[in-house]
Amino acid sequence: MIRIIKDPKLTTDLPAEPIKYPGKPLPHRFKPSQLDTIYQKSGSLYVQDISKAYLMGGEPFWALKHISLEIKSGEFVAILGPSGSGKSTLLHIIGGLDRPSEGSIFVDAENLSKLSDKKLAAFRNKKIGFVFQFFNLIPKTSVFDNVYLPFLYSRETVDKPKDKVNQLLTSLGLANKLKSKPNEISGGEQQRVAIARALINNPTIILADEPTGNLDSKTGLDILKILLSLKERGKTIIMVTHEQHLANSADRIINIKDGSLV
Ligand code: ADP
Ligand code: MG
Repeated sequence: MIRIIKDPKLTTDLPAEPIKYPGKPLPHRFKPSQLDTIYQKSGSLYVQDISKAYLMGGEPFWALKHISLEIKSGEFVAILGPSGSGKSTLLHIIGGLDRPSEGSIFVDAENLSKLSDKKLAAFRNKKIGFVFQFFNLIPKTSVFDNVYLPFLYSRETVDKPKDKVNQLLTSLGLANKLKSKPNEISGGEQQRVAIARALINNPTIILADEPTGNLDSKTGLDILKILLSLKERGKTIIMVTHEQHLANSADRIINIKDGSLV
């Protein structure tokens, strides 16, 4: 079944039949039953032949076309491509923020397409940490609460959760900013808060969408170093960027153009 996110740019006339991308699927496919043995470690990811259509004036626009890729546990992968190539769409689908029109995503051998919206949200909260270009912090809410709130939503039970928030923010150099509001701190500091928020539920995978795109180059480098240090601690990192020199720090670069891997 096709699911299209609500967006003012979209028409609401959904097709009765699922849209099929006109083209042959790629031959490279695993049977889901094989996935258990292929991916035993947590933080691994397999994208199986996904395509994504947005409806524009009733016509499908294919933002992603037959993408297959695998990312191993603990890898730092950069997705590199020009603006409009489908990077954010791909990242959102990988992280369960959106669903593909076709194809499947497996995270730790779990097929995300089989999860209900509620289970998908729970999966996201537990396994994935998102970092965005524009930080997406809650305005008028303290640095501390921006990190503490997603923990509360997770309904996890952890000993002294407030201590955990403090430790995390301190480790990111924000000990003296706990009570500040996002608009009272610098861009680099805001992104570090966003990284703390992404880490609070101890996810195995961090998805970062142009995390340095709104920062000067020195501050951007600091953020990149933090992401690299998270890789050292065993996290799987997928970073979207349109800058080659940032992508060069990754273990592997995946190039995307016009919705296809190149
Ligand atoms: P990137 O992150 O590489 O800049 P995106 O994934 O944001 O690219 O977008 C890929 C293509 O899909 C672009 O042509 C964009 O205009 C289109 N697109 C993205 N989101 C929507 C949407 N909600 N409705 C219609 N088209 C969209
Ligand atoms: Mg983008």
